[in-house]
Amino acid sequence: MARALTGIREGLQMSDPQWSALKDLLHRRRVRLMPFQVAQQTGLPEKVARALMLRLHLKKPGSLYLNVYHACGEVPVAVIPFGESFTDEECPECEEAVEPDELTYEIALHLDEPLEIE
Ligand SMILES: [Zn+2]
Repeated sequence: MARALTGIREGLQMSDPQWSALKDLLHRRRVRLMPFQVAQQTGLPEKVARALMLRLHLKKPGSLYLNVYHACGEVPVAVIPFGESFTDEECPECEEAVEPDELTYEIALHLDEPLEIE
């Protein structure tokens, strides 16, 4: 088992039950989590959930991805490692030329193994 990640909670407004719920959530295998799901399952505000996910990424790079959405639909048209950019000139779904202002992004945490935090 990998070492627990420390300093995850530092400086964030979080109750003990919310912290416990977060630990349980990250302890599941093969899960893909978006900020709204972390918020739903822990009771944390979505912006705190998002800050936590970015912090996890800084402590353990490689598990954070970016879902890319095009104006043509609500399903991600691409999922790319966080830190990379979407460079397609054409949308993989609708095959229209992509304008930067038609794209939106959300982070997603992909856990292949349980993540220990303390
Ligand atoms: Zn499209």
